[in-house]
Amino acid sequence: MSSPQSSRQHRLYIGGEWIATASSRQNINPSDLDDVVGDYAEAEPLHVAQAVEAAHAALPQWSRSTPQQRFDALDFIGSEILARRQELGTLLAREEGKVLPEAIGEVIRAGHIFKFHAGEALRIGGQALPSVRLGIEVITSREAVGVVGLITPWNFPIAIPAWKTAPALACGNTVVLKPSELTPGCAWALADIISRSGLPAGAFNLVLGAGAAGSALVEHPKVAAISFTGSVGVGSKIAQHCAVSLKKFQLEMGGKNPLVVLDDADLALAIECAVNGSFYSTGQRCTASSRLIVTDGIYRQFVDALVERTRALRVGHALDATTQIGPVVDARQLAKNIDYLRIGKDEGGRILCGGAHLSQPRPGHYFSPTLIENHDPQARLNQEEVFGPVASILRVKNFEQALAVANDTPLGLSAGICTNSLKYATQFRREIQAGMVMVNAPTAGVDYHVPFGGTKGSSYGPREQGALAMEFYTRVKTHYIAA
Ligand code: NAD
Repeated sequence: MSSPQSSRQHRLYIGGEWIATASSRQNINPSDLDDVVGDYAEAEPLHVAQAVEAAHAALPQWSRSTPQQRFDALDFIGSEILARRQELGTLLAREEGKVLPEAIGEVIRAGHIFKFHAGEALRIGGQALPSVRLGIEVITSREAVGVVGLITPWNFPIAIPAWKTAPALACGNTVVLKPSELTPGCAWALADIISRSGLPAGAFNLVLGAGAAGSALVEHPKVAAISFTGSVGVGSKIAQHCAVSLKKFQLEMGGKNPLVVLDDADLALAIECAVNGSFYSTGQRCTASSRLIVTDGIYRQFVDALVERTRALRVGHALDATTQIGPVVDARQLAKNIDYLRIGKDEGGRILCGGAHLSQPRPGHYFSPTLIENHDPQARLNQEEVFGPVASILRVKNFEQALAVANDTPLGLSAGICTNSLKYATQFRREIQAGMVMVNAPTAGVDYHVPFGGTKGSSYGPREQGALAMEFYTRVKTHYIAA
């Protein structure tokens, strides 16, 4: 058996072997630019092709595996992840910048996802249906799709690979995972665990690298389906290719999620929802509350209290126990935050707090949590995803206007409302154009065992997570049996 790592390089995992490559990429800790997290192999198109061939070769065996074999492998992976939560959480915090408690929480979530889909492997099945003809029985079964390519972003570097890999394997598919080039460490650690789970060689493969490795995966003719999470721009390129080559595909993309605060809201609760939704995980969540839409009667009180609370948030090293907000992930993301601040000012927005690139004892990508007031729903800052600790505040007259403004973007991932009115909460749940809706809770708090996804430009294809995940990872076959 090849070794997972040379003294220098964390290798690719292809066909049950650890493969070294000529070039590698250094992974730098955004909390401390002097800290090199690791050196990770960079796949060339040739490696991606090898990984797809290995997955294709493993398909006959894994697609015929028993539900018990699938359960055992996924349950083992889940247990290992949970047992190593502290170590993996520390790695995640170092490579992505999420504060340690949140990073450990994400690792636990990944462990639970594997355990959940271990159980699902025992439940995936078809239906018995009546026939319109005498003497015929009709049943449906669910079969694996084939080789699936999984392409993931950096902001949940273990949970998102987990929520794609676990259902893909549970349904009998073989997998090639291409995680973000910014956070290869967590996916590599996951591959290391999977390599000891008893899966046949080639059932799971890991290729590391940037967009070129992703597009080589999308373009490979033996890949039957692509599940992608990331930006709208890349998602739409993948959609074009998959549509032409008739591959099955699923896209989870950005959000510009509204949190509506009505006059009758519990003020303290609304502030907590806003701070959590807008700034935890440094605002780098697709479900972050990036638009705070507040009605007239509570506006002044809400804004004053939120500004005070936001100014008090402690920004710092992700592994420092006193830190509440870690750094943004890299220099490009920092520049994007700074650029949106300029755009916000240019289009007439008022910076209420934050907006600074902060220096710390250690060099890092620190940006202070920022609130920008701009009441124009069409302002770019109220329409485009920043993906950082930046939230805009819009003042509206009443519930009806709040709902209209909340729906006034091309995206529709998650949405929240803070109110004590059952009537308004109910109307909001029914009429908001979002895949997930929260009442008196942050837009970003989601469970791991229920459907996840958006509407409009945020998502395309079947939902991820929970029992519905099998919709994407299986094909239905209809059987007619003459008795
Ligand atoms: P990104 O689109 O830049 O990259 C995502 C992945 O795609 C990476 O692995 C990248 O290497 C790969 N990639 C880049 N170009 C490619 C190409 N041409 N073909 C194939 N693959 C390619 O996104 P990111 O910056 O890593 O992540 C941030 C984005 O992800 C935000 O927009 C955020 O909202 C979104 N996101 C969405 C969800 C969700 O479930 N809706 C969850 C997390 C993040």
